Amino acid sequence: MILDDFSLKGKVAVVTGANTGLGQGMCVALAQAGATVAGVARRECTETASLIQKDGGEFTEVLADLSKPESVDLILEKVLSVYGHVDILVNNAGIILREDAINVTAEDWNKVINLNLNMVFLMSQAFARQYIEQGTGGKIVNIASMTSFQGGIRIPAYTSSKSAVLGLTRALANEWASKGINVNAIAPGYMATNNTTQLRDDEKRAGEILERIPAGRWGTPQDVAGAVVFLCSKAADYVHGFTVAVDGGWLAR
Ligand code: NAD
Repeated sequence: MILDDFSLKGKVAVVTGANTGLGQGMCVALAQAGATVAGVARRECTETASLIQKDGGEFTEVLADLSKPESVDLILEKVLSVYGHVDILVNNAGIILREDAINVTAEDWNKVINLNLNMVFLMSQAFARQYIEQGTGGKIVNIASMTSFQGGIRIPAYTSSKSAVLGLTRALANEWASKGINVNAIAPGYMATNNTTQLRDDEKRAGEILERIPAGRWGTPQDVAGAVVFLCSKAADYVHGFTVAVDGGWLAR
């Protein structure tokens, strides 16, 4: 039956940036769909763990700093030591630094590109190697952005990284689709999380943004739940290299 294809029972999912915001929402959604979830974060994921465990779900916390390339192997080793296999990777961790392009330092530029792009590639590569070794195939979902399609304002490194995530998603899908690995992305619109605190605190910008969202409200972590479960499930086995907007209609304007 079709709904069975959306079930993630027996799957092990790794979500980066699991302690808060969209990452937390996606951990809960994947667990509700039946997956065992390993949440990667620099800080403890107490809230995420309790949201999952209260529904009888299974959650393991993996403390790691994704600004460091050596974290990639440590994360994979930890997950494999606990669960023995892995099926799903959600590359969600990301940072945004707001500054006029004219004043952005090389250090800040590199910080954003490193976490939002370089680490997405290195994590995807390590997980794809593992999926191939397991002979199981697997799922990779990258978190893109409206700035994968648009320029944004005062966030040149962020826009560059998220535009590249859309291209990387296509490039990896082209190479790995034949190996049973689905690489796709979700482009959230304007969501009420820490990522947009500064924006939402700016009354004028917040008003302009809200006025332009056809759905008439900012998004929430729950809004990405359906898309992530779908892309991580058997129901999306023939979906490759696509970036799904979950944006309240923003891109349709
Ligand atoms: P958030 O700031 O609440 O979450 C960011 C997550 O990344 C946190 O869990 C944080 O701990 C983690 N993180 C940051 N640096 C890390 C590091 N060095 N190592 C490990 N983890 C690290 O904001 P969010 O909105 O939940 O963002 C999640 C993703 O969604 C990001 O990639 C963001 O760019 C993207 N996004 C957000 C919006 C939005 O409107 N909120 C829109 C489009 C895309």
